[in-house]
Amino acid sequence: MKIDLLQIKGLGALLKSPWFWRLCRIFLLAILLLMIGYGWHQHAIPGVAAADPLMYTNLATYGLWVLWLMGVVFVALLFGRLWCAFCPLGWLNGIISRSGLKRTLPGWLQNQYPVTLTLIVLQLAVYWLSIHRFPDYSAVLMATAIGLVISSGLLFRQRAFCSLFCPAGAVMALYARIAPFQLRVGQQAVCDSCDSRQCVSEEPSWRRFEWGRGILFWNSLRPGCPIDLHPQQLTDDAGCTLCMQCVDNCAHHNLQLGFRPWLAELGQKGLNRSETLFVVVLLGMLTASFSKVNISLREVLFWLPQQAAVALGWQTPGYALLAAIWVTLILPLLLLLPGLILFKLRHLRESTLPAKTGTTDLENSLPLKPSSDSSWTALGQLLLPFIPLLLTVHLILALVKLNTKGAYLPLVLQDPTGVQSYLAMQITQTVAQPTALLPLEILKWLALAILLFGYLFSLLAARKIANRLLSDRAVQFYFWASVVGVSIPAVLYTDTLIRWLFVR
Ligand code: SF4
Ligand code: SF4
Ligand code: SF4
Repeated sequence: MKIDLLQIKGLGALLKSPWFWRLCRIFLLAILLLMIGYGWHQHAIPGVAAADPLMYTNLATYGLWVLWLMGVVFVALLFGRLWCAFCPLGWLNGIISRSGLKRTLPGWLQNQYPVTLTLIVLQLAVYWLSIHRFPDYSAVLMATAIGLVISSGLLFRQRAFCSLFCPAGAVMALYARIAPFQLRVGQQAVCDSCDSRQCVSEEPSWRRFEWGRGILFWNSLRPGCPIDLHPQQLTDDAGCTLCMQCVDNCAHHNLQLGFRPWLAELGQKGLNRSETLFVVVLLGMLTASFSKVNISLREVLFWLPQQAAVALGWQTPGYALLAAIWVTLILPLLLLLPGLILFKLRHLRESTLPAKTGTTDLENSLPLKPSSDSSWTALGQLLLPFIPLLLTVHLILALVKLNTKGAYLPLVLQDPTGVQSYLAMQITQTVAQPTALLPLEILKWLALAILLFGYLFSLLAARKIANRLLSDRAVQFYFWASVVGVSIPAVLYTDTLIRWLFVR
């Protein structure tokens, strides 16, 4: 790491200060409560024909679905999970868990299945109830999240809410694998000779606060890592929530925070089964979201669930269920099938060849070794190079949304309920409707360039992972299977982007 942000004068002190983080989280918690307050009981405007007039003018819907959901993608692009360092929910969950029952999460919940289920339920709620369009539904969603933060905190130790109910954290964990930002120990030798392991040990310690000439000492319990990680053993950035607790705890100041090259550590750790399922679901959801603006593609993609709902005589809730299952599971698996078949051919070919001799211990211990040949393992291997493409698709969706709706922010701040703003824009027409921040001519080329970069980065990632982790004869199979796998959604996205922004 060339530049350690913790060593930069002023910035380092700020980042190391627990009070800086506490104040940021308290401030964001207050905003979250305001969003709930302004969204509560605000569904529509009496007398106004539009079904969802407050979608972009109310603080709850605008703050949650435009600013936060889209903004965190840009944060993840550059800083991985840095949003988690600011997040009031994870922080509150950690604080409450210190005085609760402190049960350990059962083994069957220590994976990404619960969070994948949460993501599917949210998708179902979006299809069925359009929760993203109505402030009251969005407020109930945020209040439910706070309720889960409190109840899971009272029941379990550490940040159970993050691993059970936060799909955003799981998405950011995925993007953190390729982001150029990391927290690592400075010198392994210092950690090797460190007996106290203060960074993670939960023990009382003396604290010190200085103000001018005054110095205050007090004894307090020092929280450990909320994710049960040990900084010395970090090999990727999927798990670390950058909460800075270990930075605050380490008396040797042996932690560094800063930038590294993109994709630097991708493939150090493969995707396990539950992570694989999560990425499959995410691929389906992003593909469906992207296709929303491509009417002909959308009709093709949703033809089967629509026909099934008609054949079964199911109305909106039944169709929403079929569409959610289709989008989150079947559609992405169909998209992945050609690449997976190609990759599995490798196993058929390898089973006819004599075993390779001379592999190193490192090769044998890595997660992508050829003997791991179940379909889910192969899928997990194949999905790693999808991460840059998924991130860029997410980024384009966020860019377009923030570009078209970003200018609503002053209106939302002036009138957080959104009622007066809507009436002034649409009924009395005393306020002009906000326009896009960037002209379409710039936006469309920018979006295309981002998509192209994402595709090229995915190919680069495939080459890197293959060279780093696979035996010589498997490299070509893996690379070409990845090229096929990544190219299928990339073609769909490019076609959509061109129809959406270029052909109007
Ligand atoms: S995982 Fe989710 S709830 Fe937890 S800190 Fe990150 S964003 Fe917040
Ligand atoms: S990070 Fe700090 S406290 Fe933790 S083992 Fe290393 S030197 Fe010790
Ligand atoms: S490793 Fe450090 S920064 Fe990361 S989650 Fe654990 S305590 Fe927080």
